[in-house]
Amino acid sequence: MRRTLLAGNWKMNKAQAEAGAFFHDLDRELGSTPVKADILFAVPFTLLERAKQAAAACHHSIHIAAQNVHWESHGAYTGEVSIGMLKDIGIYASLVGHSERRQYFGESNDTVGKKVAACLAQGLTPIACVGETRAEREAGRMQEVVSAQMLAILKYAGSQNEKLIIAYEPVWAIGTGLTATDTQAQEVHHLIRGQIASILGSARADTMTILYGGSANPANIAGLLTQKDIDGGLVGGASLKAKDFAAMVRAVK
Ligand code: PEP
Repeated sequence: MRRTLLAGNWKMNKAQAEAGAFFHDLDRELGSTPVKADILFAVPFTLLERAKQAAAACHHSIHIAAQNVHWESHGAYTGEVSIGMLKDIGIYASLVGHSERRQYFGESNDTVGKKVAACLAQGLTPIACVGETRAEREAGRMQEVVSAQMLAILKYAGSQNEKLIIAYEPVWAIGTGLTATDTQAQEVHHLIRGQIASILGSARADTMTILYGGSANPANIAGLLTQKDIDGGLVGGASLKAKDFAAMVRAVK
């Protein structure tokens, strides 16, 4: 049985005080009713410690993750942060290969694969992102593109992949208000799980958490989560407001 994961992605948003206030508000919104999902927030590097402290003061368990990490352990990589540095401050998960990293910062299937491999080798949970652009979908290339992205991730992941989490995020749906329909999202999640089964075996495919991301919000999350192969959401815009995110958590049955 796969447990639902709702992961917020704050992108390049919020200052220290806003982060503290967010978790205070989220805690109040969630109240003491039981929560049926795991909750995680990927926040900017500058907010990791503050978010961790504020989340620890909440009544429900909330994990804090980075949005990016480098594969090398140290050295001349100006502007980068290593896995060891994250673990040093008690952070054990990171997004890897978000489409905005691929689009604006030149990340390739190869660099994403290296990051996944390094995270798994060093005990960090990589939430590895895949997804096609609008032009790729319209050209009938969705399956080809997503399969190539997944192949790199799975090849680099190797056999020590217990912590690996996948996020399918169609680029055309990120931040655009255009959500994939439940059926469109399920179709790709099914393809991804099938590819995992053919490379890592069906037992691992059955346990792998595969998140959907792309304009998920309180109004559409319940429908997405009814789909067999959708195990949760990676949520950008709707994770910035405690009320919206709490509504999404409450939608998990
Ligand atoms: C994201 O940033 O991963 C994302 C899915 O953003 P949004 O929910 O705003 O589309």
